[in-house]
Amino acid sequence: MTDSDTQAHLHLETRAVHAGRADLEALGVHALPIDLSTTNPLTDIDSGGRSYGRLAAGGEIEQNASPVYQRLWNPTTARYEEALAELEGAEASVAFSSGMAAISSVILAAAGDGRRHIVVLRTIYGGTESILSAGTLATEVTFVDRVDEIPAAVTDQTGLVIAETPANPTVELTNLDTLATAAGDVPLMVDNTFATPVLQQPLRHGAQFAVHSATKYIGGHGDVLGGIVACDNDWARRIRHVRSLTGAIAHPLASYLSHRGLATLPLRVHQQQSNAQAVAEALQGMPGIERVMYPGLPDCDPEGLVGTQMAGPGAMMAIDVGTYERAEAVAAAAKIFTHAVSLGGVDSLLQHPASLTHRPAAAEAKPNTGVLRISIGLEHPDDLIADLAQAIAAA
Ligand SMILES: *Cc1c(COP(=O)(O)O)cnc(C)c1O
Repeated sequence: MTDSDTQAHLHLETRAVHAGRADLEALGVHALPIDLSTTNPLTDIDSGGRSYGRLAAGGEIEQNASPVYQRLWNPTTARYEEALAELEGAEASVAFSSGMAAISSVILAAAGDGRRHIVVLRTIYGGTESILSAGTLATEVTFVDRVDEIPAAVTDQTGLVIAETPANPTVELTNLDTLATAAGDVPLMVDNTFATPVLQQPLRHGAQFAVHSATKYIGGHGDVLGGIVACDNDWARRIRHVRSLTGAIAHPLASYLSHRGLATLPLRVHQQQSNAQAVAEALQGMPGIERVMYPGLPDCDPEGLVGTQMAGPGAMMAIDVGTYERAEAVAAAAKIFTHAVSLGGVDSLLQHPASLTHRPAAAEAKPNTGVLRISIGLEHPDDLIADLAQAIAAA
């Protein structure tokens, strides 16, 4: 019986605390062990060679076999992968040194059989948009703005459809069931960074890959860079094969911190979300703000996806303060909010997507220059509201 068989009936909060820790008792330890070995002793040439061949091809480690080399397999990383797979309702997951490493490895694996055309539903993270538009991975890309444009964009050369919901930075929601239908037989990758598995599990809606920048909510404390993709066993093997060749595996210390982060992920996401709802409602109608974009406001969720596809609206929002100059002034005047990129941590951040995270995006895909993206943390919502109110009044 696997870990996920035994845990499937338990609540998410319980699984988040216990997932990926099944072997600890036998090891005689309580906290997650960190194995930093870059190389591992081999018992004999034959079994060492066999393990190397198996792991380099993306296979799973055999019982009592040597992991051989950290680029192929690492026990600290493997425990974290088991835990994230468990929370995403996936057979497996594969951990990377960053979100972009995870995304590019899915692209390389999906395009591996020669189908090098990718269809991307805008809006997506600027880095994903730019690695595809620059052709860095030798792919061709068609960008579409609406789900119903996907079927016509797909050709017999299409290896992957990419989407993100909630989207970065506009927090627009996309119906995942409709999206999976539109992608048809083409594998679908959904960037689940903003929602986390606490609020949304794309594989349950027909996606083949749920990817995360673990740098954000999973790590949650702004001190670890990482990425992870949840998928089935067959895709995991193909993606690990790419990872063993490109060397994009997560470092064991990063895996340890990300795995530790999972234990408090439900608690953090729920509290940050509750704070975000309070902030969004307070900002709506505040003088100096033209628009508040937050899925927890009724006009931002026309299809009613919050409460169905998503267990809640999350803790990311965007506001439009009208002009670049006003956005600059708000960013400069905020005191509790740190003016910084990234998101999903315990402390609140704000940043200007058109100049920063979405700087590499094509002109037509750039957010308005008055838009600020806001990541709500664990501070008291009243303090966050007061800080934004004074910053907006000062602008
Ligand atoms: C940050 C981010 C990424 C990239 O992740 P890194 O860990 O910075 O490489 C991808 N997608 C989304 C939605 C992000 O917010």
